[in-house]
Amino acid sequence: KAKNLGKNDYMLFSPEMYVNAGEELLLENDLRQALKKEELELEYQGQINANTGAIIGVEALVRWNHPEKGRLSPGTFIPLAEKTGLIVPIGDWIIRQACRQHHLWKESGLPPIKISVNLSAQQFLNQSFTASVAATLQETGMPPEFLEFEITESMAMDFNYAEKALHELKKLGIRISIDDFGTGYSSLYYLKRFDIDALKIDKSFIDDLSGDKNDAELINTMIVLADNLGLGVIGEGVETREQLDELVRLGCHTIQGYYFMKPMSGDDLRCGYYDLIRSVFEKK
Ligand code: C2E
Ligand code: MG
Ligand code: MG
Ligand code: MG
Repeated sequence: KAKNLGKNDYMLFSPEMYVNAGEELLLENDLRQALKKEELELEYQGQINANTGAIIGVEALVRWNHPEKGRLSPGTFIPLAEKTGLIVPIGDWIIRQACRQHHLWKESGLPPIKISVNLSAQQFLNQSFTASVAATLQETGMPPEFLEFEITESMAMDFNYAEKALHELKKLGIRISIDDFGTGYSSLYYLKRFDIDALKIDKSFIDDLSGDKNDAELINTMIVLADNLGLGVIGEGVETREQLDELVRLGCHTIQGYYFMKPMSGDDLRCGYYDLIRSVFEKK
């Protein structure tokens, strides 16, 4: 049942989630302090070209090292951050941290790596969002072509707001991808109207790929759509060889998932980079 809900609804069903309002208030207070106390951390998961084995980019995924509760996944606190408006300062920090990490990797001699950052609607629709992003690019020296923002279909569908924000972000040179593609609104008009770079096929389609014939048909349709519109396409949540082979057969060559790589810290990625490349190459 929970699987059918939008990404922003999963908080209600997560087992790690606070169960009552009192506890939620406590967690909210902790979250207010989390930035200042440097408890948030980004992990990075590779996006792999299945033909060459090259790491074409990484997605930044936020974690919260809570002093008592331990390491919390975004599903337990991003909805709370969104509800309280804390997502605005937290989101700014996430973008800045991703840009800093790009610089650190480059400094340590790695080839420049594209970083994708997830956006929440409240961030994206905030009047000062694009100005703040522009300032962060300046401040960190981040080349914009190595930054990508992941938005959802519902964010893109809100034409009144999305139009201005997307136009400004593209003018800055930032890439835009549609996350969880296929799970949101059914109108595809926004794909024509906006300058989108890539579609990320949601994990739910890929999960049943080996068993369900219809999922292969749906994925095939998404890939043809992306090709016809000149968009990139990424298969997300790929866990098995079978899923990988099927996606490649269907024409999706960019793959993100545990099969190739789990999310890891920026330091682990830096230290293990060439071992990672080797292991990915052997698995491809
Ligand atoms: P998403 O953007 O769709 O990110 C993909 C999620 O799938 C991540 O979960 C990732 O760890 C997980 N994943 C990747 N490959 C596999 C796989 O092969 N198998 C399985 N079972 N899972 C896989 P995570 O890190 O828990 O993030 C969950 C969601 O939280 C994200 O979904 C995104 O919507 C949100 N999120 C994460 N980081 C941020 C952030 O910095 N800002 C905002 N606004 N949202 C974020
Ligand atoms: Mg994402
Ligand atoms: Mg997302
Ligand atoms: Mg996704």
